[in-house]
Amino acid sequence: MPSPRTREILQQLIGFDTTSVNSNLQLLDYIRSLLQQEGVDCQLVYDEQGQKANLYATIGPQDKPGVMLSGHTDTVPVSGQAWTLPPHQLTEQIQADGSSRWYGRGTTDMKGFIAVVLAAVPEMLAQPLHTPIHLAFSYDEEIGCIGVRRLIDTLKSLPVKPAMGIIGEPTRMKVVTAHKGKLAARVTVTGKECHSGMAPLGVNAINYAARLIVWLEQLARQKRLSGPFEEGYEIPYTTVHTGVVKGGQALNIVPNHCEFVFEFRNVAAESPRDLLAAFRAYAAEVEAEMRQQHADCAIAIDITSEYAGLATAEDEDVVAFVQQLTGEQDTATINFGTEGGLFSQVLGVPNVVCGPGSMDQGHKPDEYIETAELERCEAMLQRLIQRLSQVC
Ligand SMILES: [Zn+2]
Repeated sequence: MPSPRTREILQQLIGFDTTSVNSNLQLLDYIRSLLQQEGVDCQLVYDEQGQKANLYATIGPQDKPGVMLSGHTDTVPVSGQAWTLPPHQLTEQIQADGSSRWYGRGTTDMKGFIAVVLAAVPEMLAQPLHTPIHLAFSYDEEIGCIGVRRLIDTLKSLPVKPAMGIIGEPTRMKVVTAHKGKLAARVTVTGKECHSGMAPLGVNAINYAARLIVWLEQLARQKRLSGPFEEGYEIPYTTVHTGVVKGGQALNIVPNHCEFVFEFRNVAAESPRDLLAAFRAYAAEVEAEMRQQHADCAIAIDITSEYAGLATAEDEDVVAFVQQLTGEQDTATINFGTEGGLFSQVLGVPNVVCGPGSMDQGHKPDEYIETAELERCEAMLQRLIQRLSQVC
């Protein structure tokens, strides 16, 4: 079983409803007081409204670059999901094979990791560490890695930034070196309404939106056929996908409005901004054609979320370092995004994703983590503390 301290902390953490729309400040107050009890100072980096914050702390020498343990404090919503167990309370269930699971929102994504890290703080202090451990806990990860950008801006200005990072998203403790980037956008097509009996006098926003969607579908096909391809992924190329379309009021009205959302999930060799630029160029042609019919017509394209992909080279020190901690020889990829891409691309901190639990249980009703996963994470942190307490 994980330590009683891990359990107690995880129970507290999931007790805070830190769905991304909510403030995470109460949760951070709890973490801050835990750290303060151990004499560890931390820094909060707030959002513009002062309603949410990132937490950053360094344990051990303050003047050396160390190993950053990174996690997000927000969770996806439970609303609209058929939970049979209380989402903000830790529930233990023993399985037929004797293994046990802890249920609750965030147990696997990713308060379980944060609980294990916090539970290990007294041990980090007791050793003591010769190379520091940095704690980096963010907000608003689930809505597009928003919050951590402010933390990264702050870290840029510090005299010492982390040498490497471990992003504790659920990977079943596999060492993950790559995930795709993502860019999502909303397209709003404004046409000109009229009675459908006089359809040629109007400008049908749905028809023009359809042309844009077909262009995206053709791009998707081109990526599937011609790449670029990246080994290690189940889908080894950039995907292009339209998810929601809304438009029209009634069959007898030529629709003046249609909007849709789409996304690119790009491999490292591809720039989603370049793909977007090509799409914008095509949309400008379509818009010009619409405007020849009516001057009010328009196509607006707004990015709704974006995060960088992760592509840590296999020969980066962090890869072998974390492999030694977990005992894993291999590396893996994941098909979800993390803050790791931003840490490496924007801050220049090489990192891998490695954390307890599986995303198979993330974002779902009755989310749970196997306690054996938390134990493996505890063991990894023990080895990390031992490594960093050696004089080197
Ligand atoms: Zn997550």
